[in-house]
Amino acid sequence: MAVDPLIELRDVNKYYGELHVLRDVGLTVGKGEVVVVIGPSGSGKSTLCRAINRLETIQSGTILLDGRPLPAEGKALARLRAEVGMVFQSFNLFAHKTVLQNVSLGQVKVRGRGKAEADRRSRELLERVGVADQADKFPAQLSGGQQQRVAIARALAMDPKALLFDEPTSALDPEMINEVLEVMRQLAREGMTMVVVTHEMGFARSAANRVVFMADGRIVEDRSPQEFFSDPRSERARDFLSKIL
Ligand code: ADP
Ligand code: MG
Repeated sequence: MAVDPLIELRDVNKYYGELHVLRDVGLTVGKGEVVVVIGPSGSGKSTLCRAINRLETIQSGTILLDGRPLPAEGKALARLRAEVGMVFQSFNLFAHKTVLQNVSLGQVKVRGRGKAEADRRSRELLERVGVADQADKFPAQLSGGQQQRVAIARALAMDPKALLFDEPTSALDPEMINEVLEVMRQLAREGMTMVVVTHEMGFARSAANRVVFMADGRIVEDRSPQEFFSDPRSERARDFLSKIL
């Protein structure tokens, strides 16, 4: 199937000093695709996400968004960050702002919306992720699952072309994992382009178009979930799956 690429990495290499953390990484994420990234701890999954959003620089290779290279700095970089939203394991909400303010802030600062319009949009999004009744509370007054749904609403408020999720449910109590995954499944159904680092294999099976398996900074497998889970080709992937399934 020919997909219209939204995110493209070609021969990307990233070092932290001597440590070679992304090795000749090539990856294409088509518009509307959901790509789940899995692999052992330290394999470079977070670095991959951060490189796509330019939170990390790369030493060689190319990263394109919608066919254009990533801007190095300035206003263009701020716009890029808004176009590719990121949701982290640790929620990263502003502790001293209300839920509503958390979702509205970037819309005003980066998107240049008026406050009333931003607040209206924020309430719509909070409704969509099921936390509209929490709008005037502070993050610490919410459960982890609610906070993560607010973080997703905040990312959506920037009208992103794609969303990157880095272990969005790893910090959550088990009973809250599903409420976050359900919001993500809904986004996937609506056609949002998503790169999701997760250990939730149920989500990978049900929502992913492709599973990318990383080990030691390399993409070792990039296949449909059906193929990957029924017949992992590499020893590393078989070993990894035997430990987590
Ligand atoms: P993963 O998300 O798959 O667990 P990471 O992308 O976080 O892996 O890390 C890949 C490798 O890079 C690991 O060996 C990690 O220790 C190293 N690393 C990550 N961030 C830094 C950093 N800021 N400075 C130095 N090394 C780092
Ligand atoms: Mg990580």
